[in-house]
Amino acid sequence: MTPAVEPNALEAMTEFLYLAPVGLMTFALDGRIRLANPLVAQLLIPLAPGGDLSDAYTALAPLVPDLARRVRGFAATSGIIIDHERCPIAMGARQAVLSVTVHRIHGGMNLGMLEDVSRQVEQDRQLFEDRQRFQAIFDNVRDYAIFTVDPQGKIDEWNQTLLRFGGWRAEDVLGRTLDIFLPAEVRGTAAPDTLLANARQAGSVEIEGWRIRRDGSRLWTNTVVTALPDVSGAVRGFVVVSRDMTQRKRIEDELRRLATTDPLTGAFNRRHGQTLLADTFGDDGDRRRQPGLLMLDIDHFKAINDRHGHETGDTALRAAVEACRAVLGDAGSVVRWGGEEFLIILPDATEAAATAERLRAAVGDLRIAAGEDSIGITVSIGVAADHGDGPHGVVRRADAALYSAKRGGRNRVVIAPDVTAVV
Ligand code: GH3
Ligand code: MG
Ligand code: MG
Repeated sequence: MTPAVEPNALEAMTEFLYLAPVGLMTFALDGRIRLANPLVAQLLIPLAPGGDLSDAYTALAPLVPDLARRVRGFAATSGIIIDHERCPIAMGARQAVLSVTVHRIHGGMNLGMLEDVSRQVEQDRQLFEDRQRFQAIFDNVRDYAIFTVDPQGKIDEWNQTLLRFGGWRAEDVLGRTLDIFLPAEVRGTAAPDTLLANARQAGSVEIEGWRIRRDGSRLWTNTVVTALPDVSGAVRGFVVVSRDMTQRKRIEDELRRLATTDPLTGAFNRRHGQTLLADTFGDDGDRRRQPGLLMLDIDHFKAINDRHGHETGDTALRAAVEACRAVLGDAGSVVRWGGEEFLIILPDATEAAATAERLRAAVGDLRIAAGEDSIGITVSIGVAADHGDGPHGVVRRADAALYSAKRGGRNRVVIAPDVTAVV
C-alpha cells in the first residue's frame, strides 16, 4: 500500500509559503507572476502602480529598474541572478530598505525573494557610527593605550594607541598575554591572570606599576581593566585602558626623596629616621628577627672644621656616608641623626657588632681631600639591640654605648651591656 503523504505535503508546503517571513514569488521570463505569497503582496502593493501584481518587471521596477534586462540576459538554466541587493525605497512616510534576490530555478522560471531589511540596515548604520566614534577616540587619545583581551587573557585587538603608547605593533601583541608589557623581573608570574580574575569578580580593577615599551624602556602606568559581559552576563573579554603616568611618578618619587633624605649626604633625614625607628622598634615592628641599632659619631669633627674648613668637613660627612652604604648594601639604613652623628638601623641584629667593626674600619680607611693634603677620620660606634622597649629605649642604649666609646678613647665600637646577652 502506498502511504498517502502527497496531499498533506502539498498542504504543508502551501502553509509554509503562506507563513514564510520572506516574500516569495515565481515568475516567467516574460515577467508574468505565477505564484506569490502574502508577504510579496504586502511589500509590493504599495509600490505597484494601481496595485497591479501581474507582472514582476513592472511590480519590481521601483526596486530594480533593469530587472527585465538582467533576467533575460541570464543565459544559464539555473543560478543566482541577483544576490541580496539592498534597495532603498519610500514606503509611504517611511524610508525602507528591501533586499531583493532572484534565482533562475528551471526552464526560464525565476524565484524572487523579498525581505524588509530596514531594521537590520538601521542597526548596521548605528554599529558603524559607534565604531567610527570609538575609532575617533582611539586615533586621537594621547598617553593612553586602549585594547581588548579575550577570556583566556590573550590580546585580541590592536589599534594606534598601542603604537603611540609603547611602539607596539599588531604582530607584537596579538594573541599574546599582558605579560609582554611587564618588566623582565616580574614577567612569567601569575600577576596578569590574577588581575583578570579580580576584574572578572569585581567588574573592574585599577592598578599602577612599571610597564615596558617595545624598545624595553620603562613607563609607569595606571591601568584599569574592565570585564565585558555578554547578554547572558558571562565574561566575554576585558577592556584594558592604560595611562602613562611616568612624569607624575618621577615628580612624586623626587618629592618623596627630598622629603626623606638629607641633601648634603643623601642619607635619610632625622624625620624619616624617626619613621624608620617606629617601624622597626615600635609595637608593630616585624619581630621575626631581632633588629639592631648602631649610633655612629665622627671623632673630633669640630677640629676638622676648624683646621681644614667647613667644606672639608662636608666632604668628610659625604665620604663617611658613602663608605657606610658600601659596607651595608641592603643590610641596613643610614640616617643622619644630627650634625656628624648617624643612626644605622639593622633589620637583623645578629651581626650588629661585626658590622659596626667593619664600618669603623671602612671609615678609618678613608682619605679626605683637604686642600693640598688629605686627612683621615675616625668614628665611635655604640651598638644596641631591640628589647621591646620601643625606639626611645634602643636609641638611649645605643647612645649610652656611644658615650662609652668616646670616653674609652674614640675610634672604637662599644656594645651596650645587654646586647651580648641577646645577640
Ligand atoms: P667628639 O669626638 O666628642 O664627637 O667631638 P666632635 O668635635 O666631633 O663633636 P662636637 O659635637 O663638639 O662637634 C660637632 C661639630 O660638627 C660641630 C659642628 O660645627 C659640626 N657640624 C655639624 N653639622 C655640620 C655640617 O653639616 N657640616 C660641617 N662641615 N660641620 C658640621
Ligand atoms: Mg663628633
Ligand atoms: Mg656629635
